[in-house]
Amino acid sequence: MDEPNQFLPRAGLQTLIDRLNHAFDRCLGPVVLDGIVQMRPLSRVEQLPAGHHDHQAPGSYRMTRDDGTRQFDWANGPQALKPLLFTPEEPLWRVDRDDTGRLAFTPHNPMRQRTAVIGARACDLAALRLQDQHFLHGEHPDPYYGARRDGLFLVAVDCSHPTDTCFCASSGDGPGCGDGADIVLTELDDGFLLRGTSDPGRAMAASLGLAAATTAQRQAGRERIVAAAAQQRALPDADLSAVLFARQDHPQWARIADRCLACGNCTAVCPTCFCHRSQEDPVLGGSHSEHLRLWDSCFSPGHAYLHGAHLRESIRDRYRQWLTHKFGGWVTQYGRSGCTGCGRCISWCPVGIDVTAELAALTEATK
Ligand code: SF4
Ligand code: SF4
Repeated sequence: MDEPNQFLPRAGLQTLIDRLNHAFDRCLGPVVLDGIVQMRPLSRVEQLPAGHHDHQAPGSYRMTRDDGTRQFDWANGPQALKPLLFTPEEPLWRVDRDDTGRLAFTPHNPMRQRTAVIGARACDLAALRLQDQHFLHGEHPDPYYGARRDGLFLVAVDCSHPTDTCFCASSGDGPGCGDGADIVLTELDDGFLLRGTSDPGRAMAASLGLAAATTAQRQAGRERIVAAAAQQRALPDADLSAVLFARQDHPQWARIADRCLACGNCTAVCPTCFCHRSQEDPVLGGSHSEHLRLWDSCFSPGHAYLHGAHLRESIRDRYRQWLTHKFGGWVTQYGRSGCTGCGRCISWCPVGIDVTAELAALTEATK
């Protein structure tokens, strides 16, 4: 990771936002809307959530505000980068039928929109690297994801306010930002350490004409990241992949199923989950139909319905599939677990099922 090498005074953040709005089709950043942090169009520094803090716990997300001036003193909202690149709904093609009944298929071209995002976190960057691996570097690269990924410019912010559900230090993904951003900021009291971490990022940083950060500022930034890591919960210290594959009959699966609603919230907010389904959307008269790709979830009843058979009919089997794939199957498929420690699935589970607690229960030697 590059060392922070410049200092952006807080008053200079508007200049960066202006540059991004000028250079890209749109600039998104964190704003508080409906009581949560959301990535929305950002043009004024006043839109940023200064003084806002999130308080997350199993099944709970709450924001409070004080007189603080820090604009990134919160952990995350329910959205990561996933919806920007792997959109919840994507029209793939359209079929038209003429008066003779002949069908004509027209592919939808991927929409190219160059997007700058301010406020991505280390867990989001790690998830982006995993989604890149899945959507771009497999046998069949996804042109829709690829078109949006090409135009993405990321200003990430090291996390100094982890919430109770965060465990990115334990997953090895944070709270300091890893690869994948163009610029990385570390928030201090009076401004930001700023480092360009890609060629476009370094060019953008150079255009701001900033002074070098002092040794004291760099030290303060490092201390904030170390302190953030120390506050977090942790995954069980075990080979989770081996544990999960060996304990498919553990009674804990049934205990989880007693609480799980199979609502799919955990998969919707998870920044790495990529399951989808196809759906036809015909007009009533039958003259044409859109073929859509929609987010799906391994908790959906139809997700494992295959040729007349439900492969995972019970909620027990669906939760077991999700957790085993996330922490076990991904290791085989992608070389690492599919969890980046963001904690979203814990906060946004309506019944507060806590992935770290369930893994701890499954890891215990005795049943
Ligand atoms: S499994 Fe949960 S904690 Fe891990 S990346 Fe997905 S939402 Fe975040
Ligand atoms: S674990 Fe929670 S969020 Fe996930 S499907 Fe079950 S009830 Fe819904």
